[in-house]
Amino acid sequence: MICQTIRTGTDCVFMKNKGCDFKDGACKTIIEKCEGCGRIIDLETGRYCKVYMDPASRWLMGNCVTATHVKLEIKEAAQKINPLKASKRASRAKKKK
Ligand code: SF4
Repeated sequence: MICQTIRTGTDCVFMKNKGCDFKDGACKTIIEKCEGCGRIIDLETGRYCKVYMDPASRWLMGNCVTATHVKLEIKEAAQKINPLKASKRASRAKKKK
């Protein structure tokens, strides 16, 4: 249904005939950690997330996975493989066959 509370005029799954069905009856504003994200929308009623109704909940278990301003850190494997040794190991394995 079309939202009649915060995002007036947009289609929302939480809007029902009796009003907004989301907890506390409306979307929540963004939190400080959201600042800089490309999914923030500025409305007359405040700043909200385009994707989530409750942005704070997206940060409870670490970074928000949809955030555009947070880069994932991929940790390198703890043990680096020596290419020379790996090559020798591979050739030994071929000889055994
Ligand atoms: S996508 Fe995540 S970081 Fe971006 S505004 Fe929404 S909740 Fe905040």
